[in-house]
Formats: sequence, structure tokens, C-alpha cells
Amino acid sequence: MTAIEGVVPEQGADRELAPKMPPGVLVDGPVVDAKFRDSYISFAMMILGSIGALIWAFWQGIGRVEISVFAGMFMLTTMGIGFMHRYFVHRSYRCGPVMRTILAAIATMAVQGSILKWVSNHRRHHLHSDKPGDVHSPYYDGFGNRIEGFAKGMGHAQGGWVWDQATTDSEYYARDILADPIAMFFTRTRWYWYALSAIIIPGGIGYAFGGVHTMIGCVLFSGLFRSYLMTMATSMVNSVCHSDGRWGYRRYELNDGTTNELVTTILTFGEGLHNNHHRFPRDAYLSHAWYEIDINGLIILGLGKLGLVHDIFAAGSRQRGSDGGKGSVPDTEATV
Ligand SMILES: [Zn+2]
Ligand SMILES: [Zn+2]
Repeated sequence: MTAIEGVVPEQGADRELAPKMPPGVLVDGPVVDAKFRDSYISFAMMILGSIGALIWAFWQGIGRVEISVFAGMFMLTTMGIGFMHRYFVHRSYRCGPVMRTILAAIATMAVQGSILKWVSNHRRHHLHSDKPGDVHSPYYDGFGNRIEGFAKGMGHAQGGWVWDQATTDSEYYARDILADPIAMFFTRTRWYWYALSAIIIPGGIGYAFGGVHTMIGCVLFSGLFRSYLMTMATSMVNSVCHSDGRWGYRRYELNDGTTNELVTTILTFGEGLHNNHHRFPRDAYLSHAWYEIDINGLIILGLGKLGLVHDIFAAGSRQRGSDGGKGSVPDTEATV
């Protein structure tokens, strides 16, 4: 510890830090270096692949196989981020080791970092939502300094935060993940799952249905480009759904900038119902109205009906039953 309370300096921490940054943030050092390595490699591959995909699309064209694999893999990995978020972060339901292995594989295939890193970042986000210490708020940077300007803040929340010279301490936020051999196996082997999702599966299907030419189109368009677009769609939850009412609407008046936004909700299979989610963070099903379509929540309820998951958490619906949906009863059971 230094004079800067709560921040864990590894070495050479000479940045401008807000005086009251909360604990669980690492500044500089090997963990931050490792974060940069992962981010540089994965974003370089996705961005170069996306440029290649656009050139290939104009030069060679994109056919039915490429579009079908794009759609199928987009849906699978969007479900994967639902599992990452509602199971591994918030423990909205329980399941056995076989199911947890399947959920971990699909979650890691989203190419949005390891389970350990995703869970740590997201729990920190909830604990300090739109306050100093939030990992990807439009209002504060990774050092707790106020971001001036709406557009700059949106850029930070949409992706700029990845390049902060600071990261989340998993020892502080995700001890359960560190103690879970299944989640840690997928954390260690993440690059194999990224490769499977972005290159091997799309390439294999492309080769099977159309030979080498379709294989190249599938790797570029349905693998790398799709991974990038899907990551951008997920990131809209951090930007659009934290826009303090600029986009979307607020069902609950909370002490943050969260909104429910329906385009993001469709693109992310329900994760855009973010004001509802911050109000009831542990709920498995986020819809509080007929027009709030939560596909990831419906998948969880379906898995529950099949007996594949159990103990599905639902504080919001119990509360709405008791106070008519006004949101005035403390959600004491819901934790991050
Ligand atoms: Zn949020
Ligand atoms: Zn959450």
C-alpha cells in the first residue's frame, strides 16, 4: 500500500490517481502486462481478420454458408456471454460439473477474455457502478479520474477501458473462480477455445460445405469478423446502457447511469435490460415487461425445465408480486 488508499501498486505507479480509489485494482506490473499481451493479440487478430473479411466480401463475395456460420456462431457466443454473466459472475442458478464445463466452454468461445478476468472485471463494475473504481464507466477512467465529455466517455466504455494501464485484482474479486478447477482449466486454455471459435469451427464447416474458397471466407467473415462484431455488441451494454437515459429508459431510479435499451437487448439476447439487471443483479431472468425480450433468460428457464440447471434466482419477480413492481423493497438477497 502507498499513500493512495486501496490501490495495489505493483511497481512504477506514477499515474494521476483519484485519492479514494477502492481496493482490488492493480496498477502497472506483470498482471497489467499480461492483460496487454492478451488484448493486443486478440484485438490484432480480430481487427486484421475484419479488414480481411471486408476485402474478401467485395473481392470474392460472401455466400450462404458464410452467412449461416456467422449467424450460428454469433448466437452461440451471445449465449456464451449470457452464461459468463449470469452463471459465473452472478450465480443466478446452479448446475453440476458437466453442465458447468459446457457453459465454461461456450463462454470462453466468445473471445472476450478468460472467465477469471471477465468475472473479476464485472464484479468490480457492479460494486462501483459509474463511480471511481468502475472498470468501464463512461464517467470515470481506470484511475478514478472524471472523463470530460459524453463522446469521450462513451468511447472509453465501448472499448477504451481495455487499454487502461490498470486492471482488476482477481484475488480480491474472484476467489471462487480461482478455487474452481473447471473455470480455471478454461482460463488457462482460453487460446484454444478462442481458436476453436474464431478459426477452426468456421473453417472446418466452410471446408466441408465448399472447399478451400469457402473455408477462407468462413474464417475471415464468420470467425474473426463475427468475434469482433459480437464483442462490440456486448460492449454496448457498457456504453449505451450506461448513458444515463440518453439512450433507452430507466425503469428503476438507481444511483448510476443504467438504462434498458431495446436494440442492445436484441443484439445481446437480453443483456441490454441493464437497468433491471443493476436493480436485481442476481436475477436469472431480466425481463420486467412483455416487450423486454430476454432470450438468455428464457434459455436459463428452459434449461431449468429440462432439469439441467436448478435453484434459478428470481428476486425481482418475487418483489414485483409484493409491491406491484415499484421497486421499493430492498433486494437484500441479490448480491454481485
Ligand atoms: Zn452495468
Ligand atoms: Zn452484471
